[in-house]
Formats: sequence, structure tokens, C-alpha cells
Amino acid sequence: MTPCTGVSVSRRVTIRELVDAHCHLHEFTDVRIREFVSNFTIVAVSDDEPSSRKTLELAKTYDSVVPCVGVHPWMVDKVPSDEADKVCKLAGEAMCIGEVGLDTKFVPDTIERQREFFLKFLNVAKEYSLPMNIHSAGAWREVFDLVIKYDIERANFHWYTGPLDLLEEIVNKGYFVSINPAIKIQKKHQEVAKLVPLDRLLLESDGPYSYRGLELEPPLIRDTVNFLSNLKNVPPQEIIEKVRNNLRTFLKI
Ligand SMILES: [Zn+2]
Repeated sequence: MTPCTGVSVSRRVTIRELVDAHCHLHEFTDVRIREFVSNFTIVAVSDDEPSSRKTLELAKTYDSVVPCVGVHPWMVDKVPSDEADKVCKLAGEAMCIGEVGLDTKFVPDTIERQREFFLKFLNVAKEYSLPMNIHSAGAWREVFDLVIKYDIERANFHWYTGPLDLLEEIVNKGYFVSINPAIKIQKKHQEVAKLVPLDRLLLESDGPYSYRGLELEPPLIRDTVNFLSNLKNVPPQEIIEKVRNNLRTFLKI
């Protein structure tokens, strides 16, 4: 394994009242981006090298953007074989590695290449002590075992819909789970949210993405807070404050 080279940049982040812990911010128009970053702190994930570079630029412009670099598991067969190495070289400028992981639910055919990429990102996260923003659809157990094996200190299992016994292991290890606005129509995600303790909870939009007619984007997070408030019988403001603190823990700031 060739070590990744790059500078380590320290960044200041403004933590706004509402937090979106997993958003593909680079895909939105400039107007929408300006609207979102003035209302939310956004952990911005990337899909490949160009979007990783764009995300880093956005973080230079807006101090409420937390930049993550990575190659999405859905992209591994659409990018050159050295894409992970190129993104690795940007890790020193990032605050997080993502969106990375494995997916045997939607794209099982590329799993071997997904593994090659993910192992590189596990190594770079370890090398730079960066948190990981993780996709684990269908491959929940394998992803969790790898995160443990590589001794990754901080991770967010985004939009988790995997087995509930594994969820218990995830939160017991101190990892976070981000709850998506899809919770209002996705029963499995409701079961997950019920079990995630408040001190392991993050919120996300995964925007821009369309899920069963729901156009996911940061402003929906307000509804998610209210939904969680009813589900967990906790006042909305308490959820908001916990999530802000959890983000600080996730980012070690
Ligand atoms: Zn995503």
C-alpha cells in the first residue's frame, strides 16, 4: 500500500442550529447551496475525484461546510482504476472520508472493485485520523467488521436500514447513525431510529435524491426532528442540541 501524501489542513467550522451530516452538496445549484449553508452546517460528501475537489472548494468558501472526499460505491465502475489513489491525495485537505463503503443491495456486480476502493479509504482514514461517512447497503456486517479491523475511531453509518442486532454493536462501539427524512415513509428506518440512543444520533438529507416521491434536501431535516421528537418522546430542541454535540464529537472539534 503506497502511503497517501498531502498536507493536513486545520479548518474552522461554524456549527449552525441544524446539522445535515450527509449531503451531496456539490450536486446542487449555487443558489441552493448558498441557501442551505446559511441555515445548516453541512457535512458534504463526494462521489469521485472531481466532486471531491468541488467539495473542498465549497468548504473554502463557506465555513459551515465540512468537506468529505471519497468515491461512492456506485461509482467504482464509472471511474478510472486509480481514482481512489487520486482522491486519497486530497485527504490532507479534508475533514472526513466519504461517501465510501460497500453495497451488495443495489450494485452487487461491482463488489470486488468496491472492496479494493474501500480498503484504500480505510487506510487513508486511519493514516489521517479522519472520520468516515459510510454507505453500507446490504453489506452492513462486512463494512462494520472492516471498520473495526482497521481500528477506525469515528464513523457515521448513514441512512442505516440493516439488522437491528448489528445496529446495537455499531452504537456500542461509539459510531454514529444518521437518520434520513425518509423515516416518515420507511418502516425499517423508524425501527432503527427508535433504537439509536440520542448520543449516537445524527441527521441527514442525502440530498439531492428522490426516494419514493420524496425529494430529499436539507430543509426536510426540520420535519425529521419533529418526527423523531414524537417517535422518541423527546422535545425537538433536545434532539437539535444533542445532534450538534454529536457532530462536534464526530469531527473532534
Ligand atoms: Zn449519499
